[in-house]
Amino acid sequence: SALEHALSKFQPTPPARRQASPDIAVSVQELTEAIENGELINYYQPKVTLHSGVIKGVETLVRWQHPSKGMIMPMQFIALAEKHGLVDALTLRVLDMALAACRRWHDGGLKLSVAVNLSARSLANTHLADDIVRRVQASGVDPHLLVMEITESAVMDDLGASLATLARLRLKGIGLSIDDYGTGFSSMQQLSRVPFTELKIDRAFVDGVSEKPQLRVILESAVAMARKLQITSVAEGVETLEDWRLLQALGCDLGQGYFVARPMPGPDLVGWLKQNSARLKAACQQP
Ligand code: C2E
Ligand code: MG
Ligand code: MG
Ligand code: MG
Repeated sequence: SALEHALSKFQPTPPARRQASPDIAVSVQELTEAIENGELINYYQPKVTLHSGVIKGVETLVRWQHPSKGMIMPMQFIALAEKHGLVDALTLRVLDMALAACRRWHDGGLKLSVAVNLSARSLANTHLADDIVRRVQASGVDPHLLVMEITESAVMDDLGASLATLARLRLKGIGLSIDDYGTGFSSMQQLSRVPFTELKIDRAFVDGVSEKPQLRVILESAVAMARKLQITSVAEGVETLEDWRLLQALGCDLGQGYFVARPMPGPDLVGWLKQNSARLKAACQQP
């Protein structure tokens, strides 16, 4: 009916729960060994300043290079790690590798921030903040170059428990990013209680925004809220030049997504920069 059609325009696209696609059977035993034996490797995805096209930092995305099953994506083993108490060990492995990479880029004259994802489960672990801080100090990386990304819903599920861990990290200068923003239900009042430095808008609200005016409204208000909280706004899932331009016009600070680059192994980053800097700079010039 006409009414249904009219209403359908106002239906928010439910931010799809991202499921692991074709299931690869992996056991806890295998995962435990993988963490110990160095089968986990980090990929890195650039975060780029939308008004200049200059790379600001990278997000670390873990992969499991399984000796016989090939490359396994995080959606297929993070939940298993969480369920069996392995996720803190995983986080610390990923962090160590990310800090070492950050250090190498820095020594090569490339000053990049590096973001590491923190699991919901880890927020309740009262030792984790100290473990992280100790590793940052041992690495020699400036803590201001490290950002921990935490999913919005994870933080809000138990704000009290999360706050202690997050505040400890923030006090040492480590940045805090609220990941997948828009998929949870936090109010600005709640958000303002957590010392976040960055708001990462979920790709459900970004992908295809240039063609979907409803998404634009959500994006606009998220960017405005980040500005009011005086924190960096980041759009994930920027897949086209049109999306980039729109986000730039909305005043979003950083963009991340396939239009910029797919996640890549650390050693590829410098070469990628050489080949793509001009393209990204050109994307900033308004037509
Ligand atoms: P996330 O932190 O929201 O990371 C963004 C995901 O979106 C990544 O998937 C990335 O490859 C993908 N992506 C980036 N740009 C685009 C785009 O333009 N289009 C589309 N369709 N996708 C894009 P990935 O690498 O499979 O990671 C999935 C999730 O796994 C991450 O979501 C994060 O929550 C989790 N994860 C990854 N690494 C770690 C880790 O070291 N520790 C923990 N606890 N979780 C991790
Ligand atoms: Mg993330
Ligand atoms: Mg996301
Ligand atoms: Mg995200």
